Amino acid sequence: MQTFDYVKPASLDKALNGAEGARVIAGGTTLVDLMKLSVERPTTLVDINLLPLDKIEKLPNGGLRIGALVRNSDLAWNAEVKEQYAVLSQALLSGASPQLRNMATTGGNLLQRTRCMYFREPSAGTPGGYGCNKRTPGTGCAAMDGYNRIHAVLGTSDRCIATHPSDMCLAMAALEAVIHVEGPKGKRTIAFGDFHKLPGDTPQIENALEPGELVTHVDLPRPVDGAHSVYLKLRDRASYEFALASAAVVAKVEGGHVRYVRVAMGGVGTKPWRSHEAEAALLGKPANAEHFRRAADAALAAAKPRKDNAFKVELAKRCLVRTLKLATA
Ligand code: SF4
Repeated sequence: MQTFDYVKPASLDKALNGAEGARVIAGGTTLVDLMKLSVERPTTLVDINLLPLDKIEKLPNGGLRIGALVRNSDLAWNAEVKEQYAVLSQALLSGASPQLRNMATTGGNLLQRTRCMYFREPSAGTPGGYGCNKRTPGTGCAAMDGYNRIHAVLGTSDRCIATHPSDMCLAMAALEAVIHVEGPKGKRTIAFGDFHKLPGDTPQIENALEPGELVTHVDLPRPVDGAHSVYLKLRDRASYEFALASAAVVAKVEGGHVRYVRVAMGGVGTKPWRSHEAEAALLGKPANAEHFRRAADAALAAAKPRKDNAFKVELAKRCLVRTLKLATA
């Protein structure tokens, strides 16, 4: 049995002074699972639930500030979010179960780890276990030639093809959120698209956080006048399941033409996948089925399917076409 210390600081300063091997815990919906599986073996748990990071506040510039400790349920049902950032509310409500959403936090959702079944196997990355470069760099990737139906087709490398699992992150990518972090060297902001890392040669590095840094809040920009947003998720069953393909779209149509559009896709990428290719294919074009399909083709043009997940390419295209249709109706 792995023992660990538990601390519950009342101030951010103390929370940022965690010992080496410390892990921050808030809702615990990911970390506790991973500790039971021996994927995470912290020496200290830093419980941040006493920190004043649980507010949703309107910003003077018309945007919205979301504290890292805001629960997924509270965020999804917030009146401003439902009205002005519908894609975020829909994405949150499509994830997990009501009980998990009541516990899971905004910061924790940002830091969700992959559902790759090899990664979550207790012995992965150890001698005699499955190879997993994310668990132990240099041990290989069992998914590459193994069962890879749920794995990614975009942003993969020859080291890792694990899919990013978050729904919330796709909405935030499409909304161009900004992440605020604080650490031993002070405060800084990270554009949403720069927060999650592609696996490349270092799949064990999943985000831009420096040692000791903590996500404090996420800012959403002022809503785009006249834009509509939609999240659509396709999965093996209707609830409590991760996406095989999903899409988050924010779009504005005037005179039958697309005047503003942001597209993010899930279930297919190694990080929350913003598709600039789809956006470029749509901007200024008629909002019709022909151009939606062209955008979907552009979004998946670089896809690298494996033996069990080739179906995701067409599924993701159809998911995006459908989402674009709903967002521009
Ligand atoms: Fe590990 Fe990534 Fe390969 Fe899964 S896909 S086994 S997480 S290296």
